[in-house]
Amino acid sequence: MGMWDGENWIWQLQWRRRMFQWELPLLDSLLVLIEDFRPLKEGEDRHIWSFGKEGVFNLRSFMEAFYNLKYGEVEQKPWFRLVWQGLAPPRYELILWAILWKRVNTKDRVMRWKPMVEDEMNCVFCGVELETVNHLVLHCKFSWRIWCELCDLWGVAWVCPNEVDEAFLAWTGAHFVGFERSLWHACFMAVVAIIWELRNGMVFEGKVPNWSGIRDKVILLVGVWSKAWKENLPYCLEDWVSNWNAIRAWKGKRMMIR
Ligand SMILES: [Zn+2]
Repeated sequence: MGMWDGENWIWQLQWRRRMFQWELPLLDSLLVLIEDFRPLKEGEDRHIWSFGKEGVFNLRSFMEAFYNLKYGEVEQKPWFRLVWQGLAPPRYELILWAILWKRVNTKDRVMRWKPMVEDEMNCVFCGVELETVNHLVLHCKFSWRIWCELCDLWGVAWVCPNEVDEAFLAWTGAHFVGFERSLWHACFMAVVAIIWELRNGMVFEGKVPNWSGIRDKVILLVGVWSKAWKENLPYCLEDWVSNWNAIRAWKGKRMMIR
């Protein structure tokens, strides 16, 4: 691997076979790349995740690094940081992330590589429209009913944009602050996750969704997530549906969000 020459480290890479001619320029490039790096003389080797703070891996830094490498910084979406706020467990952040990027296998995507008859391409909820992310999450009459119930709960009117990422930006642009703002953002994440899980339950397990009580399910999911935000919220999970307005108005200390 290499040797010390006084204070200088000299790389001596050994290979299992002789290099092909075309590989030699690559080897030169590699040596240029690593010439400024040297092993520590003391201490044990350890893994460091250089994309995250303090060298520790987390999902947010991975997704940021991956999408930067793949699409370049200029392509970074304006909603990027609004997804990874720590308001929901990483699994739910990832669902929202994939939905906003439209990297989920809705039927309009699947039909690119798998021939389908017309009925198969339709939304599993309404059975009428082609299943796209925008339709499934926003415009299907079943999904739209959930958004309307949620807006009623909050006492807001909302003209929903066509695209799901525009909808997320519009939603998160509402003028709520502090704890209420976090609740509001988390509600969007919860609706998206619940719709996506209902859809997958129907497609892969043949489950029949129970549309009544979805609004309460959204509230309870946000309630569960909120336990990780701040410990001194003076309500237990059973209170969330019955005491929604009081919880919403609760003014605690500013939450720690990452
Ligand atoms: Zn539909």
